[in-house]
Amino acid sequence: MLSFWESQSFVQYDFIVIGSGIVGLSAACSLRERAPQARILVLERGMFPSGASTKNAGFACYGSLTEVLADIARIGEAQTLQLIAKRWQGLQKMLGRLGASNIDFQGLGGYELISEQELSALDKLEYINQLVKPIFGKAVYSAVSAKIAQFGFNPQFVKALIFNELEGQIHTGKMMQALLTYTQKQDIRILNNCQVNRLETIDNEVQITVNEHVHFKAAKVAVCTNAFAPELFPELAIAPGRGQVLVTQPLKNLRFAGTFHYDEGFYYFRNIENRVLFGGGRNLAFAQETTTEFATTDLIMNDLQQKLQEIILPNQSFEIDQTWAGIMAFTPNHEPIVRLHSPQVALGVALNGMGVAIGSLVGAEVAELLVN
Ligand SMILES: Cc1cc2nc3c(=O)[nH]c(=O)nc-3n(C[C@H](O)[C@H](O)[C@H](O)COP(=O)(O)OP(=O)(O)OC[C@H]3O[C@@H](n4cnc5c(N)ncnc54)[C@H](O)[C@@H]3O)c2cc1C
Repeated sequence: MLSFWESQSFVQYDFIVIGSGIVGLSAACSLRERAPQARILVLERGMFPSGASTKNAGFACYGSLTEVLADIARIGEAQTLQLIAKRWQGLQKMLGRLGASNIDFQGLGGYELISEQELSALDKLEYINQLVKPIFGKAVYSAVSAKIAQFGFNPQFVKALIFNELEGQIHTGKMMQALLTYTQKQDIRILNNCQVNRLETIDNEVQITVNEHVHFKAAKVAVCTNAFAPELFPELAIAPGRGQVLVTQPLKNLRFAGTFHYDEGFYYFRNIENRVLFGGGRNLAFAQETTTEFATTDLIMNDLQQKLQEIILPNQSFEIDQTWAGIMAFTPNHEPIVRLHSPQVALGVALNGMGVAIGSLVGAEVAELLVN
């Protein structure tokens, strides 16, 4: 039961954003840029942002060579280039807002480990370089296979190494803290432990039911709940994809630094200081990993540990410090869903696993749909 004061001052807004991940917070900040006087609220069901944005690997990436080739086969050159350009623009937007040092951005470059079966991708390296040149102003992919030995990878599995000089890494925790602080400085209210149950449009106003008993109201609403969007809009063709990750204890002689992709991006690892963060393996059990349940499984954790030992750190002992899972969202065409659901409600959901880079731009696009 609300008091008169609460009804007057706490539940009525110009804009409400649902979800406080990268996209939701970026959307709220972009709304502020477009509407300096507006009352803006973000509703988040978790104690923290609780989807993918605080769980990810922190790759500031826009596509490894084999990922780009796979995207071209799936959606064609033009759409693939558009996606890469948007990831790049999104990354610049994030860096501009938060500052490289506040999010520990390090432009160490990214690498792709190429197996025997993937060697033919090297023949396409120059073609892809020419294709992406208009975005980056230069060729970005190069073969650096001499580094396989320097990094200590198992040459039985890693037959070539491709360097992507513009890829970087961030500290995911610092980035989300910086984004929360930035958002709050824009006079945007964020309420946690607020599960949105449903939205109804009544007389051109959207009523949002939270925790089954409080009704918030807004002129316009941005839905930024990524993999959880079908809970509010069951018609959306979004499949959740669980990502499992481990991080080692600090290692004495870590021989590589940067971000690394393997097996078309299904596996990824990086250094975090002198530890290794390693994630992936969803392709081992697609059906089981099509879930919104935050849990790790023995199947995938054992596989990650085995690959870490056999391929990445052969002949080196390590201990696992922590394991966790986060939830991504996938669409059939691998593109985010950014559109109006009704004149009052915009969707910015289904980031398809590369939201660190593109998330800030998707947020801006959602804001533009609501204020134009
Ligand atoms: C293990 C893992 C590793 C990854 N690694 C990378 C990487 O290295 N680089 C990269 O670019 N991308 C990576 N990603 C993907 C990236 O993290 C996501 O694309 C991005 O964080 C999506 O941001 P978002 O704001 O759309 O969604 P989310 O971060 O999922 O945010 C959605 C928010 O909505 C909230 N919410 C949901 N339903 C409701 C509701 N009904 N009411 C209120 N709130 C609700 C959730 O609690 C959540 O906080 C990774 C993802 C995972 C899981």
